[in-house]
Amino acid sequence: MNNKIIDCPRCLGKGFVNKEDIKRLRREFFWIEGPHCAFCDGKKHVKYDFANRFNADDWYITSDLDKGKFQRYLNEDEEILNEIRHTEQYVYYFGNYIMEHHVSRGLSIEKVIASLARELQIEIADIREDVCGMIEQIKTNIIDESGVNFNKS
Ligand SMILES: [Zn+2]
Repeated sequence: MNNKIIDCPRCLGKGFVNKEDIKRLRREFFWIEGPHCAFCDGKKHVKYDFANRFNADDWYITSDLDKGKFQRYLNEDEEILNEIRHTEQYVYYFGNYIMEHHVSRGLSIEKVIASLARELQIEIADIREDVCGMIEQIKTNIIDESGVNFNKS
């Protein structure tokens, strides 16, 4: 047991997460900047033991994470760990698909939604919100910064 306290490795002791942190930790598909760092709970420092156990880029630990689920995560609940693995794959797939087809190739949002729904064999209505959310996130985290010409149609 090590009770040492260290600067939060996620927000680097600011107490909040900004775009530079998101970029440094490569969490562009997962987070948006906010006033409260979930890793240190806004306290700017964390227990050494905690930082040793969890990585600063652990995308699952966010401010809107349900307390009960967080506890189950701490307890290494198998169901939660599976859910996390599944969600992570889904997020990467969505993010990369949108980067490739919408951002690089300039395919419209509607076309991206339609082809993604076809590929995953799910209803358009069931993924529309996720796709639009991911596009907003990519715009905020990646496009604004790099100055890439973004196709708005
Ligand atoms: Zn922090």
